[in-house]
Amino acid sequence: MHLKIAILLLGTAAFARSVYDPILTSSMDPSSYANVDVIQTYDFTLTVDVSFDQQLIKGSNILTLRAIQDVSEIVLDYQGLVIESASYQIPNISTTAWNEAYFETQTDSQLGNALRVYLTDKAKRGDQVLLDIKFHTTNESLAINWLTKEQTSSGTLQYLYTKCEPIHCRGIAPLQDTPSIKTTYSAYVTVPQPYRVNMSAVCLSQDEYPQTKTTMYSFRQTIPIPSYLLALVIGNLAQKTIDYRTSVITEPDTLEEYAGILKNLGNLLNETEKYVMHPYIWGKYTILVLPPSFPVGGMENPLLTFASPTIMVKDGSQIYVATHEIAHSWSGNLVTCKDWSNLWLNEGFTTFIERRVSAIVDGEGFASVESLLGNASYYDDMAGYGQTNSYSSLYPLVNHTSPDSASSQVTYEKGQQFMEYMKNQFDKETDFQEFLGQYFNKYSYQSITFLETRLTFNDFVRAKYDSVKAEGIISRVNWVDWVQTPGPIPAGSKINFETDESRAFQKLADDYIALGGYSSPANLDIYTKEDKNVNLKVVFNNQILQRQGDMNYRILSRIDTDLSVTASENPEIGQRWFPLAIALNYDKAFDTAKHYVQSIGRQKYILPVYTALVRNGYRKQAYQWYNERKTFYHPIAAANIRKIIFSSRKQLEGYEEQIQNSRDVDNLFLQ
Ligand SMILES: [Zn+2]
Repeated sequence: MHLKIAILLLGTAAFARSVYDPILTSSMDPSSYANVDVIQTYDFTLTVDVSFDQQLIKGSNILTLRAIQDVSEIVLDYQGLVIESASYQIPNISTTAWNEAYFETQTDSQLGNALRVYLTDKAKRGDQVLLDIKFHTTNESLAINWLTKEQTSSGTLQYLYTKCEPIHCRGIAPLQDTPSIKTTYSAYVTVPQPYRVNMSAVCLSQDEYPQTKTTMYSFRQTIPIPSYLLALVIGNLAQKTIDYRTSVITEPDTLEEYAGILKNLGNLLNETEKYVMHPYIWGKYTILVLPPSFPVGGMENPLLTFASPTIMVKDGSQIYVATHEIAHSWSGNLVTCKDWSNLWLNEGFTTFIERRVSAIVDGEGFASVESLLGNASYYDDMAGYGQTNSYSSLYPLVNHTSPDSASSQVTYEKGQQFMEYMKNQFDKETDFQEFLGQYFNKYSYQSITFLETRLTFNDFVRAKYDSVKAEGIISRVNWVDWVQTPGPIPAGSKINFETDESRAFQKLADDYIALGGYSSPANLDIYTKEDKNVNLKVVFNNQILQRQGDMNYRILSRIDTDLSVTASENPEIGQRWFPLAIALNYDKAFDTAKHYVQSIGRQKYILPVYTALVRNGYRKQAYQWYNERKTFYHPIAAANIRKIIFSSRKQLEGYEEQIQNSRDVDNLFLQ
């Protein structure tokens, strides 16, 4: 693929130089420029000062690397940062001197920048190399979200949180930003008082400096992790212990409420640990509940799961997200995908474990309905990509495109169905659990591809069953069809996730459509009375959305009058109801839809609404709703909304220029 290479001159003029040879992406991970095939980081120390006044993080990252071969340069990833200087030390050659190093940079619109540091003294294979990069952030970093006081729930202090997965850790500090290697880390974070800091590491100390009115927090993560699990949060934070190993962190005003909703967190951890037949190795488990702009449901940072407040619905229907993040403690955090094409090893495994634990905790019916809904949403995503696109497979070929674009429900749901299919080939579910336990044990602390998974699966089956049975199972589990072939799962492998209850809710939707909005089905009270499993209401809403072509304003209006769907506070319902209401010009729902997209930052819930606006002739409203709240959204979410509203960057820049000139948004959309 052709890359546009821009040449930048950064740092002290004497020591930065332009690119002579293009820097190529890593042979181990096409989403990183780091030359991890020849030299690998195994520890780093981040020392930074955080200024909320300037929205600036400034400091250094000292990487400790080991040369795999003789090597004379180190390539790191970075994005949205200014590199101030680079220096290195090779203790085998000199234990005292830091050598200032020549470095050069190369930009790439998809992957951020590459930083090549030259070692004047060549490192020999096996040598340890220390590399110290001084840097500061800019407001271009896609990893960091700065919130004003007003954007928090307590409204007392500003707030900062990071989101690194998949390739945004390079927006916090320069490093080898690839899941193909794992490192331990230390961090020293100095913040103004009274801010509190948490990271995906153990907090060792807090040292207060009265003269500067600052506090330095020290952290250490002794378990090697991939870079995308680095996490930092700063704000008015409080912590409440739930049981001996679980706790919740959030702003003080919501702490008691969230701790109440999460009271069974310890039980979820216990059940997950039992299911996977492998011990939880991380020590404590803590969930941080973020302000509403957090763009995803959860992020499995070790010791500090990040969760959207949208999972804190009082009906408890979204707590499965916590189960999902807990399951990542094994699939993802302990055994990690080596590159982003293998992401299903994290997400497919995790979704499978989440559903099996949900089945134990909330019943098979709950888990089946989750899979039923997941199945519908992954088909929608495949329709968006096209059935023959590699993104519609479990092995998307990300190449030089940002792996953000390949993250979809396919990875989660098709992966989950593959796991379910494998499990169903075994005599007993506990046999499959035993496979999971052995797999997690074998690949603990490693990064792998699905080829290792396949090998381990086959070995396990051959050791577990007689040869005829084992070869039968191995021949039925076709990895090429399941993993690398785009489109629906292999013919004959379909798993039915319907339940009697889900069928009843689908039928209720069908009955509404059949009655044409002139009357109501007799049994509509199954919807209004249902309080045990809110997700059945989602099944109903999914069905009317799937049958959009048969719906009209009158039917929708009757459903809303009977079932008060517009007023529902469940975001899973809003995600389906508002796009349908917009498509049918159901004006009574527009104000609520606007409030919905302006108060939630989680992309899964709001992007379908923006898409519906644009597709149905409401591009102007989409822009106005976005523009009023554009500082509320996370930078990645804001960029994705802009992509929906504007078909090209040129179109966006054209609008923004006109707005600056005329300040009259109304006239811009008449064309
Ligand atoms: Zn996940």
